Formats: sequence, C-alpha cells, structure tokens
Amino acid sequence: MNAEIIAVGSEMLTPERVDTNSLHLTAELNNLGVEVVTKCVIGDDRERLTDAVRRAISRSEIVILSGGLGPTEDDLTREAVADALDRKLLFRDDIADGLERRFAQMKRKMAEINKRQAFVIGGADVLPNDRGTFPGQWVEESGAVIILLPGPPHELKAMFERQCLPRLKRLVPPLAIRTVFLRVTGMAESDLDQLIAPVYTKYRNPVTTILAAGSDLQIHLRARCGTIAEADALLAEVAGPIELLLGDRIYSRNGDPLDVVVGQMLRKQHATVSVAESCTGGMLGERFTAVPGSSDYFVGGFITYTREMKIELLGVPPEILQQFGAVSQETAEAMAAGARRRTGSTYALSITGVAGPKAGGESVPVGTVYVGLADAAGVLAVHRQFIGDRTRIRTFTCQMALDILRRRMK
Ligand code: ATP
Ligand code: MG
Repeated sequence: MNAEIIAVGSEMLTPERVDTNSLHLTAELNNLGVEVVTKCVIGDDRERLTDAVRRAISRSEIVILSGGLGPTEDDLTREAVADALDRKLLFRDDIADGLERRFAQMKRKMAEINKRQAFVIGGADVLPNDRGTFPGQWVEESGAVIILLPGPPHELKAMFERQCLPRLKRLVPPLAIRTVFLRVTGMAESDLDQLIAPVYTKYRNPVTTILAAGSDLQIHLRARCGTIAEADALLAEVAGPIELLLGDRIYSRNGDPLDVVVGQMLRKQHATVSVAESCTGGMLGERFTAVPGSSDYFVGGFITYTREMKIELLGVPPEILQQFGAVSQETAEAMAAGARRRTGSTYALSITGVAGPKAGGESVPVGTVYVGLADAAGVLAVHRQFIGDRTRIRTFTCQMALDILRRRMK
C-alpha cells in the first residue's frame, strides 16, 4: 500500500521550521509495510491545500495531513479536505460540549473561535486527542483513507499511535520487511552503481538505495513480502550477485564502520598497529582511537612533518628523502618500516601526501598521497591521486589506509 503525507503550515515554508512530523509518520508507516511515495509541505492556503488533497487521494491509498486543525483563521485543513471530498462540515454538539468542559476544568472561558474545532467532515470518524483540545479525523472515500492529525508533534505522535495504528493494522495486509546493509569502500559511487545496477534494477522489490558519505558507500536493500522467509529469500536472490560482484570491497554487513571492522580484525589476530602520519596530522590515529577499547591494539603513532622529524623519529634514511622527495613511495615505505621498527607493532601504516590547497615545497600535484604498510612480510606503498579540498583529501586518505590494512589482514 502507498501513502502520502501533507504537512500543513506556512511556518514550514520559512527557513526557521522544518517538517519533522512526516519523518515520524514515515517510520511508523514503513513499519506497517506501507511505502510513503510522496510528501509535501503546503502553506495555510485553502485552495492550494484542497488541490493537494485532491491529487493525493486520486493516487494513494492512505493520505495523512498534519497540522491546521487549530481554532484560528489560518487553520484550514478541515475546510480543505471537505472541499476536496465535496462534503459538508457538520457541527458536532458533543465535541463542542467536550471543549467547553475542558476549558471549564482549566477555569477558563472558551473563546468563540474554539467552536471551529467542533466541525467534522461529513461521514468522518472522530479521533480523540488525549493531549490537546481538538480531535483528529478519519475519513474514508472510495478506497482511500484520509487522516487529519494535529500539528504539535507530541499530540500527533500520541494520536497516531493510539487511534490510527490499530485501525491501519486492520486495513493494511500484514507485511514482513527485511533489510540487507552492505558497506563498501575503495571505489567511487558512480563506479559502484555502474557495477551493480544491472542486478538491482531488475527488481522493484527489494528496493535498493546507495548512500555515499565521502569514500564510504552504503548499499541498502529492503524487501517487503508476506512472510519473513519470502523476504529473506528475495534478499538473498538480489544480494548474492551483488556481493559476488563487489567481493572484498564489502567490508561490513552489519553496519559497523571501517575503523571498527579493522579493530575487530586486529583484536582477533592478537595483532597491534602503529601509525606514522604526515599530511593527515593525526587523523588516522584518531580513526583508530575513536573506537572504544582500541588501546588493546593501537600502540601509538608519529606525526612527522619536517624531514628532520622523519629522520629522527622514524629513522627514514636522509638519502631517500633527498633522492625521491618527502611525498614518494620510497618515503612512505621507509616511514612505515620505521614506525614498525620503533614501536614493535605487528603492522605499521604511514601516510605522506599533499592535501593542498597549495602544492607546497613538493614537486607533486595536490591530492597526491602514498600510504605505506609494513608487517613481518615486508613493506609496500600504494599511490593515489585524489581530488577535492584539503578535508576531503585527508579523509579519503585515512579511509584508504584503513582499507589497505583490512585487505592485508584478510
Ligand atoms: P494548533 O492548535 O497548535 O494551532 P494545529 O493542528 O493547527 O494546532 P499547527 O498550527 O499547524 O497545528 O502547528 C502547531 C505547532 O506544531 C506549531 O508549533 C508547529 O510548528 C508544530 N508543527 C506543525 N506541523 C509540524 C510538522 N509537520 N512538523 C513539526 N512540527 C510541526
Ligand atoms: Mg494552528
């Protein structure tokens, strides 16, 4: 089943306010197996709102409106939905009496405008509001359900949970939703998509989404079926070929980030790691140590920017710096080997590069980085040319370093 959400209120068309109600409603609907296919924000304008409601009910089975149910002139949701359905608004004495009683309890006299809240769309069910003065409404019209909820988030949440969920559960066929979550690194988003699109585009169920945050890519597969077993089988059918195509570029299947995954591998091998950083100034050490318990495997690091520091702290031979330059494969290798020698760690990672924006004293272009790795088997260094600003280059480099270690440990 499909749903549409209309958030009503001109304040959400200003830069100050955002529509958070629809996020809450989307999560609740998804839990029921209902897909939200469209949502919009409409200002306090009767015609535009009527228009939006008409369109929504012509194409979606569930339409939820939030806000605009209050007593003031700019609260127009009741009127607009009645217009869209070509129904009358009926004054309900019982609601008006209830409102009067509520005000009496608060020792206040009810203002005349509050009576507006006693109008109900013809044929609608009234949804009691435990947390506010005015009720919500539930209207059915030729196969569609239109639900009117109050704007204040705490009122909306309570009303949805207590009044709407039980009704929707009777309406919506039971659905099992299962997900697969893969995390990938070491490739661009467009390359990833090009590789796996031939598989996932064949299916509308599961729904596949790719999210990119820097060099970290996430693939979400969401299957909706009548039973959990069916959903799992469908997921396996699609995720299987995707996993095969991506191979060891997938580093996590449970949502863990790369630093956590690498930490777990080190711990499992009873191995330790050290770092020698130029260019990233400690960011790689930060990635390792942001993980709780990382002192089990992270022994320490060196931040060496000048040639003297590379020679003194890491034992990089001066002639290597002289001959190949500070940003070079040879220097990266010597830095990693030096860090491992000086700390006695199982693995050592090194980084040297140019983060920009100016090329500095090096003869290599901005974005040039070398990541070195030393272990018992020897030493290697990988070259990459990144583009982007200083932060992007440094972030990508740290991710790359973690991934080089992960692949080495596999
Ligand atoms: P009221 O009687 O408070 O006027 P109402 O149903 O008419 O209730 P609105 O006037 O639209 O609702 O909004 C009331 C309050 O709820 C405002 O503070 C508004 O910012 C907040 N609100 C309304 N809609 C949303 C939304 N979609 N997301 C988050 N907050 C919202
Ligand atoms: Mg209002």
